[in-house]
Amino acid sequence: MPEGPEIRRAAERVAAAVEGRVADDVFFAFDRLKPFETVLTGRAVEEVTSRGKGMLTRFEGGLAVYTHNQLYGRWYVMRNGRMPKTGRQLRFAIEAGDRRALLYSASEIEVLDAEAERSHPFLSRLGPDVLSQAPSADDLTQRLADPRFRGRQLGALLLDQGFVAGLGNYLRAEILFEARVHPRRRAADCSGQELRRLAERIIALTRRTYRTRGITLPPSRVAELKAAGVPRSRHRFWVYGRDGSACRLCGDDLAVEAVGGRKCYWCPSCQSKNGGAGRERSDSS
Ligand SMILES: [Zn+2]
Repeated sequence: MPEGPEIRRAAERVAAAVEGRVADDVFFAFDRLKPFETVLTGRAVEEVTSRGKGMLTRFEGGLAVYTHNQLYGRWYVMRNGRMPKTGRQLRFAIEAGDRRALLYSASEIEVLDAEAERSHPFLSRLGPDVLSQAPSADDLTQRLADPRFRGRQLGALLLDQGFVAGLGNYLRAEILFEARVHPRRRAADCSGQELRRLAERIIALTRRTYRTRGITLPPSRVAELKAAGVPRSRHRFWVYGRDGSACRLCGDDLAVEAVGGRKCYWCPSCQSKNGGAGRERSDSS
């Protein structure tokens, strides 16, 4: 599933095509949404933004179209009159001037007024979105220590969209690795320095992944690997999907185990279960 940074990029592509323009035509595939085609046609698109892994397209007059791509949804932005070559099903489309934005395959599409947006079961419980709301490291450190979150295993907590919106399976593994924290530890077990480091890595890795279109390794590392002829598929991640391979820092074999219901990857040496390695590292920095 695409994670927050990929959805943010999609939102920006759609925004570049239709934001600030009047929708000349709006299409919905689902019968329950058909009445909104005429309601939204002729209104300006005021904003296209991401909320975690979902997207909001706000129209003049207070209505917003909420979409969630789930596994298969995909946005295309085209010149008007053109259609992408795809076997997918068109679900939602906006035409504005010489551009069109087309959403294929997504099954979760709703039209919300302000009240419905506030009380929406998913949107209303979303945690802060690093890319669209820019929480500070202080905000996230406090959030980690909050009684609602501090007792949960970090590997599972980072997947919870109610904690921070937009993190998914690869980002959580890479964040925990860069913070040197074992996925089974809880915020309640971590030192203040470890919590701070986690908060900083949540922000830094989300932003890096957004800039690099899905590469979490630092650019200097990527450059070294590229120079050595390593293909992109093998220079994206520190630990994600690399179980049984050598840790890029210490050479130990990387581990994998289900945490929070999905495979989580880590280095048993760099991310020790009792926090020793992490604490040494932060004390010396
Ligand atoms: Zn290691």
